[in-house]
Amino acid sequence: MKLVIDKNVIITGASRGIGRGIAKAFAKEGANVAFTYNASAEAAKELVKELSAYGIKAKGYQSNAADFEAAQELVKNVLEDFGSIDVLINNAGITKDNLLMRISEEDFDKVMEVNLKSVFNLTKAVIRPMMKQRKGSIINMSSVVGLKGNAGQANYAASKAGILGFTKSVALELGSRNIRCNAIAPGFIETEMTAKLDEKQVEEWRKTIPLKRGGTPEDVANTCLFLASDMSDYITGQTISVDGGMLT
Ligand code: NAP
Repeated sequence: MKLVIDKNVIITGASRGIGRGIAKAFAKEGANVAFTYNASAEAAKELVKELSAYGIKAKGYQSNAADFEAAQELVKNVLEDFGSIDVLINNAGITKDNLLMRISEEDFDKVMEVNLKSVFNLTKAVIRPMMKQRKGSIINMSSVVGLKGNAGQANYAASKAGILGFTKSVALELGSRNIRCNAIAPGFIETEMTAKLDEKQVEEWRKTIPLKRGGTPEDVANTCLFLASDMSDYITGQTISVDGGMLT
């Protein structure tokens, strides 16, 4: 059984990392994929090719998720290109880590805009078409850091915790329209980015995780598939941790 066959999904920030993994998993399961990126045009082109090989429709859009008008324009374009939007995955995110003493106002604002305001921007843009079709699933990428905080990431933690409050509120407001909204809180997910970290340090982190390994983009993607599919039709307002038991 293909979990999301013929569904149209928007994924923000899919040129690399977790977003890329999600895009591939959805294409494999028969969904049509509209995805965004910020600057990685070449990687986006490559991804369109990879996704199209699954026989689905795929298109990449350069669109700054932090920009309200750009988000409205993006959704308009995706509706024109794909006809409808069944699933929105707010995945785009950045870090600008520093101790609070050293976080500049600019770096605080930037992280809030890309990580949290983007979720508002995109969600606001999709709810009208989703309300019309009386169905939709919105999935927001939070983090273990949004649940427990982290020294050196006050800006990031605040943005990821903000996503959780937003998610629950959307679930409460739009449940009667059959629009579901859930969050995922990944733990330590190994991507190209973490491959650059000191291997010894990473090995130490792995040892502290109950399942004794870092997560993969596929681990997060599988949870997205579940939340996007009809198998989770009675689930809304929830946060699912994908962290190998890190928070237990
Ligand atoms: P990543 O490898 O750095 O990829 C980030 C993606 O977001 C890229 O495709 C990037 O596009 C895009 N992006 C950045 N700023 C954007 C903007 N303003 N508008 C549109 N797209 C933008 O990150 P990741 O590790 O895959 O993380 C993905 C999400 O999971 C983030 O929300 C992150 O906070 C969350 N998360 C990650 C981990 C982890 O361990 N990796 C753990 C918990 C939560 P370009 O390539 O064009 O820059």
